[in-house]
Amino acid sequence: MTTLPTQPVSRRRFLVASGLVSAAVCLRPGRLFAEAEGPVPSFRAAAAAAKITVQPVRGKVSMVVGSGGNIGVLTGRDGKLLIDAGITGSRPGITAALASLGAEPVRHLVNTHWHFDHTDGNEWLHAVGAEITAHENTRKHLSEATRVEGWKHTFPPSPAGALPTTVFAQEHTLALNGEKIALKYYTPAHTDTDIAVRFTNTDILQTGDTWWNGHYPFIDQSTGGSIDGMIRATEVNLSKVGPDTLIIPGHGPVGKRNDLVEFRDMLVAVRAKVAVLKQQGRTLAEVVAARPTAAHDAKWGGFVVDGSTFASLVYADV
Ligand SMILES: [Zn+2]
Repeated sequence: MTTLPTQPVSRRRFLVASGLVSAAVCLRPGRLFAEAEGPVPSFRAAAAAAKITVQPVRGKVSMVVGSGGNIGVLTGRDGKLLIDAGITGSRPGITAALASLGAEPVRHLVNTHWHFDHTDGNEWLHAVGAEITAHENTRKHLSEATRVEGWKHTFPPSPAGALPTTVFAQEHTLALNGEKIALKYYTPAHTDTDIAVRFTNTDILQTGDTWWNGHYPFIDQSTGGSIDGMIRATEVNLSKVGPDTLIIPGHGPVGKRNDLVEFRDMLVAVRAKVAVLKQQGRTLAEVVAARPTAAHDAKWGGFVVDGSTFASLVYADV
C-alpha cells in the first residue's frame, strides 16, 4: 500500500474540467467537500449532472461519453455489447443514449478494469439483462472492500448483481453481431485488472485506463498500478494498432496511433526526470517543487490529474 502525502486527484481541477460549478465556488472547494472524502463524491456528482452524448466511432461501434470512463457500444442482432458501465447516477442519460442507437436490449457488458467510474453501472445493466465479462481480479476487487489510497476512498463490496458473471486470467474472445471481440490481460498497468478490448473486424482498440488521450493518467498503486506498468501497457497498445486503427481511451477523445506515441513519450520523459531527481536524494516535496512535468503540463495537465499529482504518482514507483 502506498500512501501519498499530496491529494493525487485535484477536486478543483475535476470540477473545472467538468463544468459542474462556477469558478467562484471552485476557489473554495473545501466548503463543498470535506478533505477526508477524497474526490469520489465529486466524481459521482459530476456524472449525475453530466450531459451524456453519443459519438459514432466506426461501423456498428459508438462511444457514450460523460459518465465517468468512456463506454464503447457495439450494436446488432445479438443485442448491445457495452465496454464499461459508467457511473450509476447517469443511468437516465446512458439509457437515452443507448436507445438512440437502436431498440436492441443490452445483452453483454465487459469491464476494462475494476474502477467505479467503469463498473458502477454493472448492477443496473445486469438487472436489465447484461452478462458481465471481466478479468478475474476485477471480480476479486468488486467482491471485497477495496481501498484506493490515491482517492482516499474505500469502496465497499459490490452487490452480487454487480459482479462479473464470466472472468478470465489471460485471454477471452466474444463473437457478437458479426464482430470478433478479443479481450487480453495487460499484466498490471493502471491497476492489476486492466484488459485490452480489440474489435478485430472493424480495427478498433479500446484501452480502458491504460490510455488517457490528452490527460495525465491516474495510476492506482493500491491495486497494482505503476508507471512502469503503464509504459509497458502503452507499448502493448502500440503493438496492436496500425495507422488506421481507431482507439477508444479510458478518458478523452477517440485517437489514433500518433496520439498514443505522444502519450508513451510523455510517460517515459516524466519517469526519467523524476527518477533522476529521486536518485539524487530529493524528497517528494522537493521533486514536486522542481516541476519535472513543466514541459508537458500545458498539453496533459488540464483534467483530473495535474502535473504535481502525476509527479507524485511517478515518484512513488521509481
Ligand atoms: Zn481507472
